[in-house]
Amino acid sequence: MRYTKRIFSVLLVLVLLPLFTFSEEEPDSVVWEEEDLSAPDTLLATDVFYHTPNEHSAVMCDHDVCFWRLDMGRMDEAQIWKVLTQPVTVIDGKQREQVRIPAEPDDLCRNYVGVVTCASQAVHVLREEGDWTLIEAYSSSEEGSAVKVFAEQFQGWVKTKRLKQVEVDQHYGLVIDKLQQRLYVFKEGKLFTTMLCSTGFAKDKTTLFHETPAGEYLMISWVGGFQAETLWCAYGIRINSGILIHEVPSREEVNSKTGEKTVSYRRCERYLGEKASHGCVRVQRQLTPEGVNAKWLWDNLSRNPCTKVIIWDDLDRDLAYPDDSLLLYYNPNGGENYHSQPTCSLVRDKFEPMTAFSYGELDQKPYKKLSPCPGCAPMPRKDKIDELNKKSRKH
Ligand SMILES: [Zn+2]
Ligand SMILES: [Zn+2]
Repeated sequence: MRYTKRIFSVLLVLVLLPLFTFSEEEPDSVVWEEEDLSAPDTLLATDVFYHTPNEHSAVMCDHDVCFWRLDMGRMDEAQIWKVLTQPVTVIDGKQREQVRIPAEPDDLCRNYVGVVTCASQAVHVLREEGDWTLIEAYSSSEEGSAVKVFAEQFQGWVKTKRLKQVEVDQHYGLVIDKLQQRLYVFKEGKLFTTMLCSTGFAKDKTTLFHETPAGEYLMISWVGGFQAETLWCAYGIRINSGILIHEVPSREEVNSKTGEKTVSYRRCERYLGEKASHGCVRVQRQLTPEGVNAKWLWDNLSRNPCTKVIIWDDLDRDLAYPDDSLLLYYNPNGGENYHSQPTCSLVRDKFEPMTAFSYGELDQKPYKKLSPCPGCAPMPRKDKIDELNKKSRKH
């Protein structure tokens, strides 16, 4: 839609140009409007500075392209797609089996630097030495693990014979950004749709195991719905031991007057777009403008070969505010949300296309009271961006 508008304005200028003399303005100012046809930036905040996971590594790799050399948060579709379709190396074993990784290539070494989950967690292969391979990963230690390294990046040694290479699906891939709390679905090399999510939230040092570890994973098992205390989590797909991608949880609520039971998403849905879970990745149930939600992931992603998921860490990262000229949309006839696009799955056709306003006006009347739409993932308000930056991990 944005592009159509741009093209329209370029055409308008082209039509009007002959009416003006070129003495005041350079004529080629029209031609400059080169279209950037990469990902739609209406859906992306940008980082203040970009970091690669590699920047934290003691030993760096010499791969042309790999997860560890991607700028986290940068929507470079070509590079991301290469990574999403690359095979992965995993430690052979059962889905929930975890392996402690020693600091030295030595059977007697008891200094463990991290934990890797077998079968679903990819390891970054750095170099071989004798029977051993130096690998890198983010530690998948769980609550109660003997190795108290939670979601931290580490390098350590694995017996080479335990490693195996696994091919991944070539049609779809997922990117989860822990800073932005967005899940991006890639299809055939392009960003297809953007969803809101909630990854794990460590309130304090005693709940560090709630952090969702970054890294590369496979959607290893279609588990289905499960009960977590009072919450029901539908469409669970395992990506890392106890960590699943599932629908934002719902809860049965009883009306105190009528006794009528209803299923409500209220409690968890309002936290989508920020960290809130115990480690799982909650994703939206509302349809994105492209028609994607948690159920869609369940119905459409590949079980064999598995779809790859990459998770960007938020360590030492900060979001920048979007440009004030960024267009947002609302329905002036009683709409309560603001949207990223002029049409949205949550707005009735008769109110579309919606009315545009700019991000810079968002904190003014009448936009001040609008909430971010839970379907089309519009950029958060500036105070929410400050909050996301506060919730990101700092060294
Ligand atoms: Zn590499
Ligand atoms: Zn919307």
